[in-house]
Amino acid sequence: MRRTLIAGNWKMHGSLSSNAQLLAALSSGVDEAVAADVLVCVPFPYLAQAQLALSGSKVVLGAQDISERAQGAFTGDVSGAMLQDFECRYVLVGHSERRCLHGETDVQVAAKAAAALALGIVPVVCVGETLAQREAGQAAQVVATQLAAVLKHVGVAAFSRLVVAYEPVWAIGTGRTASAAQAQEVHSWLRAQVAALDADVAAGLRIVYGGSVKPENAFELFAMPDIDGGLVGGASLVAEDFLTICRAVNH
Ligand code: PEP
Repeated sequence: MRRTLIAGNWKMHGSLSSNAQLLAALSSGVDEAVAADVLVCVPFPYLAQAQLALSGSKVVLGAQDISERAQGAFTGDVSGAMLQDFECRYVLVGHSERRCLHGETDVQVAAKAAAALALGIVPVVCVGETLAQREAGQAAQVVATQLAAVLKHVGVAAFSRLVVAYEPVWAIGTGRTASAAQAQEVHSWLRAQVAALDADVAAGLRIVYGGSVKPENAFELFAMPDIDGGLVGGASLVAEDFLTICRAVNH
């Protein structure tokens, strides 16, 4: 049985005062009635604030990026050991905004996943096609190539210690959600790709969907057999919306 994961990605949003309200609401709102692991990935400067605010709650903390390197002269980068100092249990790697805006390659994303795994931090490996790629019939090829780079670098056994996020680029922050059937189709391709190497690992692999997940569509998405939760951007900034999404978990 795969435990559902609902992950909030705050992106570059927040302030000390708005975070305090949001974190307090999540901390008290995520209770036994939520049948999922709940994660928030906050901007680096707020890790300490979030660590403190979430202590004793059921909400776990994550980051939005990790350096593939351990330490050194890498201005602006943040290492896995630094994330561990703030009890980050998860980290996003290869979010499409990192791939598109910062030129992260499949190889670099795979190295970041490996860096997280080496420290026991769970990487949430994001894959997804652009609208042009989907319209050209290349969605399957694109996500398979992105996933293959990680499989090659860390090996299939390590997929029992990571999460995959399918995030069609055309659905992120656009209000345009993949239909539950479209998302399920890609999730089943991804699981099959892993199953071809190790059926047991594939059966236990959590594959979450991201792209305009909202209270209105969460239930339908999470009801699909290969959708094991969500990676939620915009709606994770509004406590009531995020909590409603967390409560939409039904498997
Ligand atoms: C995301 O941040 O990964 C995301 C899917 O954003 P949104 O939910 O706003 O589309």
